[in-house]
Amino acid sequence: MTHHPHDAAELHARHRAVLPSWLSLYYERPLELTHGEGRYVWDAEGNRYLDFFGGILTTMTAHALPEVTKAVGEQAGRIIHTSTLYLSRPMIELAERIAALSGIPDARVFFTTSGTEANDAALLLATNHRRSNQILAMRNSYHGRSFSTVGVTGNTSWSPTSLSPLQTLYVHGGVRSRGPYAGLDDRAYIAACVADLEDMLQQTAGGVAALIAEPVQGVGGFTLPPDGLFAAFREVLDRHGILWISDEVQTGWGRTGDHFWGWQAHADNGPPDLLTFAKGIGNGMSIGGVVARAEVMNAMPANSISTFGGSPVTMAAGLANLTYLLEHDLQGNARRVGGLLIERLRAVAAGLDVVREVRGRGLMIGVDLVRPGTDVPSPEAATQVLEAARERGLLVGKGGQGGAALRIAPPMSLTVAEAEEGAEALAAALRAV
Ligand code: PMP
Repeated sequence: MTHHPHDAAELHARHRAVLPSWLSLYYERPLELTHGEGRYVWDAEGNRYLDFFGGILTTMTAHALPEVTKAVGEQAGRIIHTSTLYLSRPMIELAERIAALSGIPDARVFFTTSGTEANDAALLLATNHRRSNQILAMRNSYHGRSFSTVGVTGNTSWSPTSLSPLQTLYVHGGVRSRGPYAGLDDRAYIAACVADLEDMLQQTAGGVAALIAEPVQGVGGFTLPPDGLFAAFREVLDRHGILWISDEVQTGWGRTGDHFWGWQAHADNGPPDLLTFAKGIGNGMSIGGVVARAEVMNAMPANSISTFGGSPVTMAAGLANLTYLLEHDLQGNARRVGGLLIERLRAVAAGLDVVREVRGRGLMIGVDLVRPGTDVPSPEAATQVLEAARERGLLVGKGGQGGAALRIAPPMSLTVAEAEEGAEALAAALRAV
Protein backbone atom coordinates (compact mmCIF):
# COMPACT_ATOMS: atom_id res chain seq x y z
CA MET A 1 0.00 0.00 0.00
CA THR A 2 1.33 3.44 -0.86
CA HIS A 3 0.66 6.60 1.09
CA HIS A 4 -0.20 10.14 0.14
CA PRO A 5 2.53 12.85 0.58
CA HIS A 6 0.25 14.29 3.26
CA ASP A 7 0.86 11.17 5.40
CA ALA A 8 4.62 11.84 5.36
CA ALA A 9 4.06 15.40 6.60
CA GLU A 10 1.85 14.11 9.39
CA LEU A 11 4.42 11.48 10.39
CA HIS A 12 7.11 14.17 10.41
CA ALA A 13 5.01 16.30 12.76
CA ARG A 14 4.55 13.34 15.10
CA HIS A 15 8.32 12.67 14.99
CA ARG A 16 8.97 16.26 16.02
CA ALA A 17 6.42 16.06 18.80
CA VAL A 18 7.78 12.96 20.51
CA LEU A 19 11.46 12.43 19.54
CA PRO A 20 14.48 14.58 20.50
CA SER A 21 15.09 17.71 18.45
CA TRP A 22 18.75 16.68 17.99
CA LEU A 23 17.88 13.41 16.27
CA SER A 24 18.65 14.81 12.86
CA LEU A 25 16.65 13.86 9.78
CA TYR A 26 17.68 14.06 6.14
CA TYR A 27 15.56 16.05 3.64
CA GLU A 28 13.11 18.92 3.81
CA ARG A 29 10.36 16.31 3.49
CA PRO A 30 11.90 13.41 5.44
CA LEU A 31 11.68 9.95 3.91
CA GLU A 32 9.83 6.97 5.29
CA LEU A 33 11.47 3.90 3.76
CA THR A 34 9.19 0.90 3.78
CA HIS A 35 10.74 -1.70 1.50
CA GLY A 36 14.12 -2.71 0.10
CA GLU A 37 15.56 -5.13 -2.42
CA GLY A 38 19.14 -5.46 -3.58
CA ARG A 39 20.52 -1.93 -3.90
CA TYR A 40 17.10 -0.28 -4.10
CA VAL A 41 14.65 1.03 -1.49
CA TRP A 42 11.07 2.30 -1.76
CA ASP A 43 9.34 5.01 0.24
CA ALA A 44 5.78 4.96 1.58
CA GLU A 45 4.61 6.91 -1.48
CA GLY A 46 5.87 4.15 -3.76
CA ASN A 47 8.93 6.00 -5.10
CA ARG A 48 12.02 3.89 -5.84
CA TYR A 49 15.57 5.00 -4.97
CA LEU A 50 19.01 3.62 -5.70
CA ASP A 51 20.56 3.40 -2.24
CA PHE A 52 24.07 4.88 -2.14
CA PHE A 53 24.15 5.16 1.65
CA GLY A 54 22.62 1.97 3.07
CA GLY A 55 21.40 3.75 6.20
CA ILE A 56 25.00 4.79 6.98
CA LEU A 57 26.67 1.61 5.76
CA THR A 58 24.48 -0.75 7.75
CA THR A 59 22.97 -2.51 4.77
CA MET A 60 26.39 -3.76 3.83
CA THR A 61 25.56 -6.57 1.43
CA ALA A 62 22.09 -5.95 -0.05
CA HIS A 63 18.56 -5.16 1.06
CA ALA A 64 16.42 -8.24 1.75
CA LEU A 65 19.32 -10.62 1.11
CA PRO A 66 17.54 -14.02 1.07
CA GLU A 67 20.39 -15.79 2.90
CA VAL A 68 20.20 -13.36 5.84
CA THR A 69 16.39 -13.23 5.89
CA LYS A 70 16.25 -17.04 5.99
CA ALA A 71 18.85 -17.34 8.78
CA VAL A 72 17.04 -14.69 10.87
CA GLY A 73 13.65 -16.34 10.36
CA GLU A 74 14.94 -19.80 11.27
CA GLN A 75 16.69 -18.55 14.40
CA ALA A 76 13.67 -16.46 15.44
CA GLY A 77 11.52 -19.57 15.06
CA ARG A 78 13.76 -21.47 17.51
CA ILE A 79 14.63 -18.88 20.16
CA ILE A 80 15.09 -15.13 19.90
CA HIS A 81 17.06 -14.28 22.98
CA THR A 82 18.91 -15.95 25.84
CA SER A 83 21.47 -13.38 27.23
CA THR A 84 25.17 -13.91 27.83
CA LEU A 85 24.42 -15.95 30.95
CA TYR A 86 24.02 -19.06 28.79
CA LEU A 87 26.16 -20.72 26.15
CA SER A 88 25.24 -19.53 22.67
CA ARG A 89 26.39 -21.46 19.63
CA PRO A 90 25.84 -18.67 17.06
CA MET A 91 27.70 -16.17 19.28
CA ILE A 92 30.67 -18.49 19.77
CA GLU A 93 30.80 -19.30 16.05
CA LEU A 94 30.71 -15.66 14.95
CA ALA A 95 33.29 -14.72 17.62
CA GLU A 96 35.63 -17.46 16.35
CA ARG A 97 35.33 -16.24 12.78
CA ILE A 98 35.83 -12.57 13.68
CA ALA A 99 38.78 -13.38 15.97
CA ALA A 100 40.46 -15.28 13.12
CA LEU A 101 39.77 -12.48 10.61
CA SER A 102 40.83 -9.67 12.96
CA GLY A 103 44.58 -10.23 12.62
CA ILE A 104 44.93 -9.72 16.38
CA PRO A 105 46.86 -12.54 18.06
CA ASP A 106 45.17 -14.44 20.90
CA ALA A 107 42.02 -12.44 20.20
CA ARG A 108 38.90 -12.27 22.36
CA VAL A 109 35.60 -10.83 21.09
CA PHE A 110 32.93 -9.00 23.07
CA PHE A 111 29.62 -8.32 21.31
CA THR A 112 27.56 -5.18 21.80
CA THR A 113 24.53 -3.79 19.99
CA SER A 114 26.06 -0.63 18.49
CA GLY A 115 29.28 1.05 17.47
CA THR A 116 28.95 3.53 20.31
CA GLU A 117 28.81 0.73 22.85
CA ALA A 118 31.72 -1.08 21.15
CA ASN A 119 33.93 2.01 21.44
CA ASP A 120 32.74 2.63 24.98
CA ALA A 121 33.81 -0.93 25.86
CA ALA A 122 37.17 -0.44 24.11
CA LEU A 123 37.77 2.76 26.10
CA LEU A 124 36.84 0.98 29.32
CA LEU A 125 39.25 -1.86 28.53
CA ALA A 126 42.11 0.43 27.54
CA THR A 127 41.75 2.82 30.48
CA ASN A 128 41.51 -0.12 32.85
CA HIS A 129 44.54 -1.89 31.36
CA ARG A 130 46.68 1.23 31.44
CA ARG A 131 45.21 2.74 34.64
CA SER A 132 44.86 6.09 32.90
CA ASN A 133 41.94 8.14 31.55
CA GLN A 134 44.06 10.02 29.02
CA ILE A 135 43.14 9.25 25.43
CA LEU A 136 44.57 10.40 22.13
CA ALA A 137 42.01 10.96 19.40
CA MET A 138 42.04 12.56 15.97
CA ARG A 139 40.72 15.95 15.03
CA ASN A 140 37.43 15.65 13.08
CA SER A 141 36.79 12.11 14.40
CA TYR A 142 33.45 10.48 15.28
CA HIS A 143 33.19 7.55 17.70
CA GLY A 144 29.62 7.56 19.02
CA ARG A 145 27.02 9.40 21.07
CA SER A 146 27.56 8.10 24.64
CA PHE A 147 29.22 10.07 27.43
CA SER A 148 32.65 8.51 26.86
CA THR A 149 32.52 8.43 23.05
CA VAL A 150 31.43 12.04 22.55
CA GLY A 151 34.47 12.83 24.69
CA VAL A 152 36.77 11.44 21.98
CA THR A 153 34.78 12.85 19.06
CA GLY A 154 36.73 15.66 17.45
CA ASN A 155 34.03 16.60 14.94
CA THR A 156 32.38 19.30 17.02
CA SER A 157 29.09 19.18 15.08
CA TRP A 158 28.53 15.74 16.67
CA SER A 159 30.08 16.32 20.10
CA PRO A 160 27.35 17.89 22.23
CA THR A 161 29.26 18.36 25.49
CA SER A 162 32.69 19.46 26.59
CA LEU A 163 32.35 17.45 29.80
CA SER A 164 33.94 14.03 29.63
CA PRO A 165 35.09 11.22 31.90
CA LEU A 166 38.20 11.11 29.72
CA GLN A 167 40.99 13.58 29.21
CA THR A 168 41.31 13.72 25.46
CA LEU A 169 44.20 15.06 23.41
CA TYR A 170 43.44 15.65 19.75
CA VAL A 171 46.18 15.06 17.20
CA HIS A 172 46.51 15.82 13.50
CA GLY A 173 46.06 13.24 10.78
CA GLY A 174 42.28 13.15 10.31
CA VAL A 175 41.77 15.69 7.58
CA ARG A 176 44.55 15.97 5.09
CA SER A 177 43.27 18.38 2.50
CA ARG A 178 42.70 21.26 4.92
CA GLY A 179 44.50 22.67 7.93
CA PRO A 180 48.13 23.49 8.60
CA TYR A 181 49.56 20.42 6.83
CA ALA A 182 47.49 20.71 3.63
CA GLY A 183 49.54 20.40 0.48
CA LEU A 184 52.33 18.30 1.98
CA ASP A 185 53.26 15.10 0.17
CA ASP A 186 52.67 11.73 1.87
CA ARG A 187 56.04 11.49 3.60
CA ALA A 188 56.10 15.08 4.78
CA TYR A 189 52.50 14.84 5.96
CA ILE A 190 53.19 11.69 7.99
CA ALA A 191 56.34 13.28 9.45
CA ALA A 192 54.37 16.40 10.46
CA CYS A 193 51.62 14.32 12.11
CA VAL A 194 54.17 12.18 13.97
CA ALA A 195 55.95 15.33 15.19
CA ASP A 196 52.58 16.67 16.40
CA LEU A 197 51.92 13.40 18.26
CA GLU A 198 55.38 13.43 19.88
CA ASP A 199 54.94 17.06 20.88
CA MET A 200 51.53 16.27 22.40
CA LEU A 201 53.01 13.39 24.41
CA GLN A 202 55.85 15.57 25.70
CA GLN A 203 53.35 18.03 27.08
CA THR A 204 51.37 15.31 28.84
CA ALA A 205 52.04 14.32 32.41
CA GLY A 206 51.56 10.64 33.14
CA GLY A 207 50.84 7.74 30.85
CA VAL A 208 48.32 7.96 28.04
CA ALA A 209 46.06 4.89 27.79
CA ALA A 210 45.29 4.66 24.08
CA LEU A 211 44.93 6.24 20.69
CA ILE A 212 41.48 5.76 19.17
CA ALA A 213 41.21 6.44 15.43
CA GLU A 214 39.18 5.65 12.33
CA PRO A 215 41.43 4.45 9.47
CA VAL A 216 39.20 6.44 7.10
CA GLN A 217 37.07 9.04 8.86
CA GLY A 218 33.40 8.25 8.32
CA VAL A 219 31.18 11.00 9.70
CA GLY A 220 34.19 13.26 9.07
CA GLY A 221 33.50 13.01 5.34
CA PHE A 222 35.43 9.91 4.20
CA THR A 223 38.81 11.59 4.57
CA LEU A 224 41.78 9.35 3.85
CA PRO A 225 45.16 9.56 5.54
CA PRO A 226 48.18 8.45 3.52
CA ASP A 227 48.95 4.73 3.80
CA GLY A 228 51.37 4.15 6.65
CA LEU A 229 50.27 7.01 8.90
CA PHE A 230 49.13 4.70 11.70
CA ALA A 231 52.19 2.47 11.29
CA ALA A 232 54.29 5.58 11.94
CA PHE A 233 52.08 6.50 14.90
CA ARG A 234 52.44 2.93 16.18
CA GLU A 235 56.18 3.27 16.49
CA VAL A 236 55.72 6.25 18.82
CA LEU A 237 52.87 4.60 20.76
CA ASP A 238 54.94 1.45 21.33
CA ARG A 239 57.74 3.49 22.88
CA HIS A 240 55.25 4.76 25.47
CA GLY A 241 53.26 1.53 25.90
CA ILE A 242 50.14 3.25 24.54
CA LEU A 243 47.43 1.01 23.05
CA TRP A 244 46.04 1.50 19.53
CA ILE A 245 42.27 1.18 19.09
CA SER A 246 41.24 1.00 15.43
CA ASP A 247 37.60 2.04 15.01
CA GLU A 248 36.56 -0.12 12.05
CA VAL A 249 32.85 0.62 12.40
CA GLN A 250 32.76 2.02 8.85
CA THR A 251 35.95 0.63 7.32
CA GLY A 252 35.61 -3.06 8.23
CA TRP A 253 34.60 -6.12 6.18
CA GLY A 254 36.31 -5.11 2.92
CA ARG A 255 34.43 -1.86 2.31
CA THR A 256 37.66 -0.05 1.36
CA GLY A 257 38.31 -2.62 -1.38
CA ASP A 258 42.06 -2.91 -0.98
CA HIS A 259 41.86 -4.29 2.54
CA PHE A 260 39.52 -6.28 4.74
CA TRP A 261 40.21 -3.86 7.64
CA GLY A 262 41.19 -0.23 7.36
CA TRP A 263 44.19 -0.81 9.63
CA GLN A 264 45.77 -3.05 7.00
CA ALA A 265 46.79 0.03 4.99
CA HIS A 266 49.06 0.72 7.99
CA ALA A 267 50.18 -2.80 8.79
CA ASP A 268 53.99 -2.42 8.88
CA ASN A 269 54.04 -2.60 12.66
CA GLY A 270 51.34 -5.21 13.08
CA PRO A 271 47.66 -5.10 13.97
CA PRO A 272 46.04 -2.73 16.47
CA ASP A 273 45.68 -3.78 20.10
CA LEU A 274 41.93 -3.32 19.95
CA LEU A 275 39.55 -3.20 17.03
CA THR A 276 35.91 -2.13 17.14
CA PHE A 277 33.23 -3.01 14.62
CA ALA A 278 29.47 -2.49 14.08
CA LYS A 279 27.15 -1.27 11.31
CA GLY A 280 27.46 -3.62 8.33
CA ILE A 281 28.24 -7.01 9.81
CA GLY A 282 24.60 -7.77 10.64
CA ASN A 283 23.44 -6.40 7.25
CA GLY A 284 21.11 -4.13 9.23
CA MET A 285 20.71 -6.20 12.42
CA SER A 286 22.27 -4.48 15.43
CA ILE A 287 25.67 -6.04 16.03
CA GLY A 288 28.69 -4.23 17.39
CA GLY A 289 31.76 -5.47 19.15
CA VAL A 290 35.32 -5.13 20.26
CA VAL A 291 38.25 -7.45 19.58
CA ALA A 292 41.28 -7.31 21.86
CA ARG A 293 44.26 -9.39 22.87
CA ALA A 294 43.34 -11.70 25.78
CA GLU A 295 45.75 -9.83 28.03
CA VAL A 296 43.77 -6.60 27.55
CA MET A 297 40.27 -8.11 27.32
CA ASN A 298 40.57 -10.36 30.34
CA ALA A 299 42.13 -7.78 32.65
CA MET A 300 38.76 -6.43 33.81
CA PRO A 301 38.60 -6.79 37.59
CA ALA A 302 34.87 -7.56 37.88
CA ASN A 303 32.20 -9.64 36.17
CA SER A 304 30.13 -8.24 33.38
CA ILE A 305 27.12 -9.05 31.24
CA SER A 306 25.53 -7.79 28.05
CA THR A 307 21.84 -8.63 28.01
CA PHE A 308 21.41 -8.06 24.28
CA GLY A 309 25.01 -8.19 22.97
CA GLY A 310 25.48 -11.34 20.89
CA SER A 311 21.76 -12.15 20.82
CA PRO A 312 21.08 -15.28 18.72
CA VAL A 313 18.96 -13.66 15.99
CA THR A 314 21.55 -10.96 15.33
CA MET A 315 24.37 -13.51 15.41
CA ALA A 316 22.53 -15.68 12.87
CA ALA A 317 22.31 -12.62 10.60
CA GLY A 318 26.02 -11.91 11.12
CA LEU A 319 27.05 -15.48 10.29
CA ALA A 320 24.93 -15.63 7.13
CA ASN A 321 26.08 -12.18 6.03
CA LEU A 322 29.78 -12.88 6.66
CA THR A 323 29.56 -16.18 4.77
CA TYR A 324 27.88 -14.43 1.84
CA LEU A 325 30.34 -11.56 1.66
CA LEU A 326 33.37 -13.85 1.75
CA GLU A 327 31.94 -16.38 -0.75
CA HIS A 328 30.99 -13.64 -3.20
CA ASP A 329 34.21 -11.65 -2.72
CA LEU A 330 32.37 -8.42 -2.00
CA GLN A 331 35.71 -6.86 -1.02
CA GLY A 332 36.92 -7.44 -4.59
CA ASN A 333 33.61 -6.05 -5.87
CA ALA A 334 34.03 -2.95 -3.70
CA ARG A 335 37.50 -2.45 -5.14
CA ARG A 336 36.46 -2.89 -8.78
CA VAL A 337 33.08 -1.15 -8.80
CA GLY A 338 34.23 1.48 -6.29
CA GLY A 339 37.28 2.23 -8.45
CA LEU A 340 35.05 2.72 -11.46
CA LEU A 341 32.65 4.95 -9.55
CA ILE A 342 35.49 7.14 -8.25
CA GLU A 343 36.77 7.54 -11.82
CA ARG A 344 33.32 8.45 -13.12
CA LEU A 345 32.72 10.97 -10.35
CA ARG A 346 36.13 12.58 -10.88
CA ALA A 347 35.28 13.02 -14.56
CA VAL A 348 31.95 14.63 -13.61
CA ALA A 349 33.62 16.86 -11.01
CA ALA A 350 36.27 18.13 -13.43
CA GLY A 351 33.71 20.40 -15.08
CA LEU A 352 32.05 21.68 -11.88
CA ASP A 353 33.46 24.38 -9.61
CA VAL A 354 31.14 23.38 -6.73
CA VAL A 355 33.25 20.21 -6.30
CA ARG A 356 36.60 20.65 -4.61
CA GLU A 357 37.65 17.04 -4.37
CA VAL A 358 36.47 13.48 -5.00
CA ARG A 359 38.32 11.07 -2.74
CA GLY A 360 37.84 7.56 -1.53
CA ARG A 361 38.75 3.96 -1.50
CA GLY A 362 36.55 1.07 -2.57
CA LEU A 363 32.93 1.87 -1.82
CA MET A 364 33.66 4.72 0.59
CA ILE A 365 33.64 7.85 -1.54
CA GLY A 366 33.58 11.45 -0.34
CA VAL A 367 32.81 14.50 -2.48
CA ASP A 368 33.81 17.84 -0.93
CA LEU A 369 31.59 20.76 -1.93
CA VAL A 370 32.56 24.43 -1.82
CA ARG A 371 31.01 27.76 -2.69
CA PRO A 372 31.80 28.02 -6.40
CA GLY A 373 35.04 29.80 -7.13
CA THR A 374 36.18 29.68 -3.48
CA ASP A 375 37.72 27.21 -1.04
CA VAL A 376 34.91 27.73 1.50
CA PRO A 377 33.09 24.49 2.46
CA SER A 378 29.43 24.62 1.49
CA PRO A 379 27.02 22.63 3.65
CA GLU A 380 24.27 24.49 1.79
CA ALA A 381 25.38 22.97 -1.51
CA ALA A 382 25.53 19.51 0.09
CA THR A 383 21.97 19.87 1.35
CA GLN A 384 20.82 21.00 -2.09
CA VAL A 385 22.59 18.12 -3.84
CA LEU A 386 21.02 15.63 -1.41
CA GLU A 387 17.56 16.98 -2.31
CA ALA A 388 18.31 17.10 -6.05
CA ALA A 389 19.64 13.53 -5.97
CA ARG A 390 16.52 12.36 -4.16
CA GLU A 391 14.39 13.91 -6.89
CA ARG A 392 16.42 11.85 -9.36
CA GLY A 393 15.92 8.61 -7.45
CA LEU A 394 19.26 8.46 -5.61
CA LEU A 395 20.00 8.47 -1.88
CA VAL A 396 23.42 9.66 -0.71
CA GLY A 397 24.72 10.81 2.68
CA LYS A 398 26.59 13.84 3.87
CA GLY A 399 29.34 14.41 6.40
CA GLY A 400 32.43 16.42 7.16
CA GLN A 401 32.73 19.34 9.55
CA GLY A 402 29.46 21.23 9.10
CA GLY A 403 28.21 18.67 6.58
CA ALA A 404 29.85 19.98 3.39
CA ALA A 405 30.87 16.59 1.98
CA LEU A 406 28.68 14.05 0.20
CA ARG A 407 29.16 10.49 1.40
CA ILE A 408 28.70 7.57 -0.94
CA ALA A 409 28.72 4.06 0.50
CA PRO A 410 26.35 1.74 -1.37
CA PRO A 411 25.72 -1.88 -0.41
CA MET A 412 28.88 -3.78 -1.38
CA SER A 413 27.10 -5.95 -3.97
CA LEU A 414 26.65 -2.87 -6.20
CA THR A 415 26.79 -3.72 -9.91
CA VAL A 416 28.59 -1.76 -12.61
CA ALA A 417 25.25 -0.80 -14.21
CA GLU A 418 23.98 0.51 -10.86
CA ALA A 419 27.22 2.44 -10.28
CA GLU A 420 26.72 4.10 -13.65
CA GLU A 421 23.07 4.84 -12.96
CA GLY A 422 24.03 6.45 -9.63
CA ALA A 423 26.91 8.44 -11.12
CA GLU A 424 24.58 9.85 -13.77
CA ALA A 425 21.92 10.81 -11.23
CA LEU A 426 24.54 12.45 -9.02
CA ALA A 427 26.07 14.30 -11.97
CA ALA A 428 22.63 15.69 -12.82
CA ALA A 429 22.03 16.67 -9.18
CA LEU A 430 25.41 18.43 -8.98
CA ARG A 431 24.74 20.33 -12.20
CA ALA A 432 21.33 21.38 -10.88
CA VAL A 433 22.65 23.31 -7.87
N1 PMP B 1 32.34 4.81 15.10
C1 PMP B 1 32.22 5.24 13.84
C2 PMP B 1 33.45 5.36 13.01
C3 PMP B 1 30.96 5.54 13.31
O1 PMP B 1 30.85 5.98 12.06
C4 PMP B 1 29.81 5.40 14.12
C5 PMP B 1 28.40 5.67 13.60
N2 PMP B 1 28.28 6.62 12.63
C6 PMP B 1 30.00 4.95 15.43
C7 PMP B 1 31.25 4.66 15.88
C8 PMP B 1 28.82 4.78 16.35
O2 PMP B 1 28.06 3.70 15.94
P1 PMP B 1 26.52 3.59 16.36
O3 PMP B 1 25.77 4.66 15.65
O4 PMP B 1 26.16 2.19 15.94
O5 PMP B 1 26.46 3.73 17.84
